[in-house]
This record gives sequence, structure tokens and C-alpha cells, in this order.
Amino acid sequence: MKRTPLIAGNWKMHGSRAAIDRFAGTLQAADLPGGVELLVCVPFVYLQRMRSVLSASTVAVGAQNLAGEVESGAFTGEVNGTMLADIGCSHVIVGHSERRALYGESDGVVARKVDAALSAGLRPILCIGETLEQRDAGETEAVLQRQLRAVLDDRDARTLAPLTIAYEPVWAIGTGHSASAEQAQQAHDFIREQIAAKDVTLSRSMRLLYGGSVKPDNAAGLFAGDDVDGALVGGASLDAASFSNIACAADPARKAD
Ligand code: PEP
Repeated sequence: MKRTPLIAGNWKMHGSRAAIDRFAGTLQAADLPGGVELLVCVPFVYLQRMRSVLSASTVAVGAQNLAGEVESGAFTGEVNGTMLADIGCSHVIVGHSERRALYGESDGVVARKVDAALSAGLRPILCIGETLEQRDAGETEAVLQRQLRAVLDDRDARTLAPLTIAYEPVWAIGTGHSASAEQAQQAHDFIREQIAAKDVTLSRSMRLLYGGSVKPDNAAGLFAGDDVDGALVGGASLDAASFSNIACAADPARKAD
């Protein structure tokens, strides 16, 4: 099955109104590949501005987190999926390793947030990945399986159709040391097998992104893997030229060359 590549930017806690305007101006002037979907996930306070400056483009805007609660209520400081959808977000990152490590998000909390996103009509990007210690101890597959099963189990395949999975080895995030193309493909192949064990159709249609120090100069190599359907890009997504070059590397027309 042909899966449209997705290049998703994660700005983390970076940005300003001026940075957003500059980014959108450069991106809109760039020659973006037609066969690739682009998404940029910015801090809550800048979502509407990014939406508005990109309104003439096909680049989607998403959030980096959401509340596990679906209904509005007394949850000071939280933002729910309905609010995100209301301002035009299409996607939301869930379970980024920084949220798991720094804000104590357990597999259970992450699964609840995936449910909350789905029920608001958002497309969640579920992040999973092992630490260096876990990789060195030979636990990579066990960790990926545990993080996946927390979401795949007890949910029916049709409900999960809007989900995207981002394989993000923690040791590769923000370090400049990307996984090799072989390591990425191997992990993606394992993830796809796990999804196939639940539902073969779902496993064929679900996009699996790689994340961890993706840059314009290593992107094409990473995207060569059959099961790598794009990237979740942190640092390099802050620069519109780098971001669009990464998108060009994911262009299926180029991949077929
Ligand atoms: C990320 O934050 O999801 C990420 C992959 O960051 P970086 O590209 O900077 O490693």
C-alpha cells in the first residue's frame, strides 16, 4: 500500500510571533514537493498565528500535547482536544519522550491522551522509543512493544486508523546522533509487525515516522527504508529551508530515482 509521507515539525518550547512569520514566509516561497504532507507543531500560544500565516498553504498545524480530559472543566492550565480542533489543529503529538521523562507521563496517561485526541477528531502522533541504556541492554523491542501495546490493545483497528506512530530513539533526540538508516528500518519493521499482529490492514496503512536528529543531509538515507514514511523533526524544523529540504528528501518521486 502506498502511504503518503508526512514530515512533521516539532518546535518544542521555541518560537515567537516574528519567528512564525519568518518561517511561514520562507516556507511559502519554497518549492515544496506535492507528494508529501507537511505539518508543524508549535506551542499552544502560537497555534492560531501559525494557522493564519499558513492559511494559503497546505501545511497543517498541530499541537504538542493535550489534556487527557475530554470534557471542559476545572483543569487549570490544561487544553483539551476539542479546543485544538476548534482553532483548526489537525494533529497532536502524544507521548513525546520529553513528556514521558520530564512530566511523568506513563503509558496509561499517554493512552488516555490518544483516546482524548481521537474523540476530538484529531490525528494523534504517538511517540515511542528506547533510551540508550535500554538499547544497550537489548531491550529495544520490549520497550517498543510495551509502549505500543498500551495504545493498540483494547482499541479497535478502525478507531486507530487516524493514528501515526513516531519511532524516536531517546538517544537520538537533540543529540546530533541520528539512528542509522538500518537501525531505523529495523525498528520500523518491528513496529509494523506488532501492528500487523493486531490488524494487517491497519499495519499497511499506518504511517511510521522516524524522529531523532533528522537533518537535510541524513534525511534521504533514513527515508530509503521501506517502512519509514517520513519524519518527526525537532531542531531542524525551526528553520524553514531545512524543513523544506527534508520534505524534498521524502518526495516519493525522488525516492523512486
Ligand atoms: C523531537 O523533538 O521529536 C526530535 C526528533 O528532535 P530533534 O530532531 O531535534 O532530534
